[in-house]
Amino acid sequence: MKWTVHTLDLGEVELNTRRLIPNEQKIDRMTFPVQGWLLTSGDTRVVIDTGFRSPEILKRIGDAATGIETPEQRLSAQLARHGVQAQDVHYVLHTHLHIDHAGQTDLFPMSTTVVINRRELEYAVSGLSGPSYPPEDIKHLIDRLHSPGALWLLDLEGTGGEQILPGLRCVAAGGHTEGSMIVIAETEAGTVCFSGDLVYSVRHQLMSPTTLRNDVIVTSNHVVSRRSEKIALKRLMQTAPRFFLYPSHDWPVLVEDGRVTEGGEKTLRATMGRCFCSIGEITQ
Ligand SMILES: [Zn+2]
Repeated sequence: MKWTVHTLDLGEVELNTRRLIPNEQKIDRMTFPVQGWLLTSGDTRVVIDTGFRSPEILKRIGDAATGIETPEQRLSAQLARHGVQAQDVHYVLHTHLHIDHAGQTDLFPMSTTVVINRRELEYAVSGLSGPSYPPEDIKHLIDRLHSPGALWLLDLEGTGGEQILPGLRCVAAGGHTEGSMIVIAETEAGTVCFSGDLVYSVRHQLMSPTTLRNDVIVTSNHVVSRRSEKIALKRLMQTAPRFFLYPSHDWPVLVEDGRVTEGGEKTLRATMGRCFCSIGEITQ
């Protein structure tokens, strides 16, 4: 199956820059988009990530985080732009279960199957995960766990990757959260990779002029070791010899032979540019 990708604009989040960039000394704030995707192939519809439950809920993670949303950026409105209603969606895939990725999953009926890496759900209820996993969102997933067909749990660490449908598979990300996953889809234009939050800023993490060829910079927002996060990012860049990378909070780019070759000029230069002056202080 070849898939068509439709981007869902699910608002914005404003955050302290320190949350994303290691050793950032300045008190500065950045705004970045929150995106989900609708994938279609014939009559089959798949959604990747569901945004935040409400703009106000972002306050729970502290650091004066703010959600920004217009009525048109609600998930239901974004799906409607493509003539799709929640009950028309066959699968909802979650790159991970953070507050800005799994907030509107209860929009979908139990006949829609939600797909999560088991380890991510386990982490969400481990008591280690903090306010980034709101109880409203996670309790809904537990309800699905007890509804036949409503929740499909993957075991990506052990399986090395699992196919959801032809041309659509999930692999363990190995970073950001304990159970984050990457979604890989085949399209007419080539392979597309949805990386969740392994990449916040293409320009900062994958195109830094101070790094060696094929080196990458990790964010400060991860629960695995810095070494694991770095390996996960390097592995991501080797997903295929040529693929389109879709980060959740930045614009898509083309990656060839492990390097960003197209689209990088559109990434978050305007907001992240303020941080470049301190890039030399960043511990990779
Ligand atoms: Zn996120």
